[in-house]
Amino acid sequence: MQRNNLWAPWRINYIQALDKTDGCFICDNLQHPDDDDKNLVLWRTEHSIVILNRFPYNNGHLLIAPTRHIAELDQATEEELLEMIKLISQSQKALSLAIQPHGFNVGMNFGRSAGAGLPGHLHIHVVPRWDGDTNFMSVCSDTKVISQSLSELLELLKKISGEHNLPSI
Ligand SMILES: [Zn+2]
Repeated sequence: MQRNNLWAPWRINYIQALDKTDGCFICDNLQHPDDDDKNLVLWRTEHSIVILNRFPYNNGHLLIAPTRHIAELDQATEEELLEMIKLISQSQKALSLAIQPHGFNVGMNFGRSAGAGLPGHLHIHVVPRWDGDTNFMSVCSDTKVISQSLSELLELLKKISGEHNLPSI
């Protein structure tokens, strides 16, 4: 399945930053609603937060996390679990309207050895995919371009959320 691997070398900045801090960026974002735009927070719901990944595997990469700092699914309540699954569906709807992906990868990593950059706070990755998107890196290799496009995408997703009865901040 080599052709499905996405190449995202700017993620090394993210992994190196995580190694230097004990902090949890999800909890930090949760505690600073005034910085939601800067932190790329898309939605806040009763039990969850949805954030655009600053170090995306692909355009539109969203993270869905519970508002509680828990690492394992068996620590989540039924309400939290149900809400996160609903948010996967709503994220797919918003992303489909905004950027028309051909497909999605939805997944979770548990533990550093499984690739979790933030093993203490569980989160679901929603990664849009397009035919031939393994070339994303060559199209979008400049981190400044990525950061600018993230802010524009956040605004577009918020507008669509308002128009389609999706969650909001
Ligand atoms: Zn946390």
